[in-house]
Amino acid sequence: MLLTNYEGRPGVGLARAVLEKGGPALDAVEAGIRAAEEDESVRSVGRGGTPDILGRMQSDAAIMDGDTLGAGAVGALSGFLHAITVARRVMEKLPHVMLVGDGAARFAREVRAEPAELLTAKARSAYEAWMEKYVPVEVRAAIDQASLAEYAWTAGRTLRNKGTVVLLARDVRGSIAAGASTSGWANRYPGRLGDSPIIGAGIYADSRFGACGCTHVGEMAIRAGTARSVVLYMKTGMSVQEACQEALRDIGDLRGGFLGPLVVHAIDVYGNPCVLANEDVGEDMDYFYWREDMAEPERRRALVIRPD
Ligand code: ASP
Repeated sequence: MLLTNYEGRPGVGLARAVLEKGGPALDAVEAGIRAAEEDESVRSVGRGGTPDILGRMQSDAAIMDGDTLGAGAVGALSGFLHAITVARRVMEKLPHVMLVGDGAARFAREVRAEPAELLTAKARSAYEAWMEKYVPVEVRAAIDQASLAEYAWTAGRTLRNKGTVVLLARDVRGSIAAGASTSGWANRYPGRLGDSPIIGAGIYADSRFGACGCTHVGEMAIRAGTARSVVLYMKTGMSVQEACQEALRDIGDLRGGFLGPLVVHAIDVYGNPCVLANEDVGEDMDYFYWREDMAEPERRRALVIRPD
């Protein structure tokens, strides 16, 4: 079975094909996410994604093998199309779990990842229009020396085009895997990492209990350790629905800092899905679910719950 969010739509067919052939959940996750990274119409991931406030494209991605609890991640990777594949190679080839920045790019070259220019003309003009509207001309003129903190808040408040692809899969052997890839918040502060590359925040998978992947305000998932919490709550005996509700209760207890929407996607050990959000974000909280006994994947919408 597979569950992916709306951003994962280009990869549903490929991920399903891997699983239908009896392939591993990890391969399904990687194949599905690669399709989203290539697709320019997915405006928050890979090619067509959004730059930071300096106009630079960087990708964050992570993958986790629920059989071994092995994981690989990259943060602030520049210049490569498939951050998810580089994350997988980190898991397979290094004694480390996460690489960032120059080291991540160096490793991407070492494993012959595909180089690519990810900033499209459309994303560049959206960035330039936002800069003109919100950042005074004198700040833009000396941006390398300027104080930019306040504009990170402005970006958080004014832009809805945050986004991430998350994909959870369970194969015929019962192995579960999770993955995520994103270009992060549009116009974020340079060097900002979200939850997507943080194992336990943006994704987590454990084939004994289930998996979880989060989208939207990653800062909140980092603070509450959301993906790991959902899986841990299932370990204590909660259903997938109860586990997601409890994790959103934790999110509701956060005080201060940047607060906003969070969408939690989860499956249990049998592949039963639950997708909950703390706020209505419309189409952004649609997801696709497919199980081996379903003729076609179904498009569904997350439930919004406001924890008491
Ligand atoms: N969670 C991602 C991040 O914080 C963005 C998103 O999913 O909207 O980078």
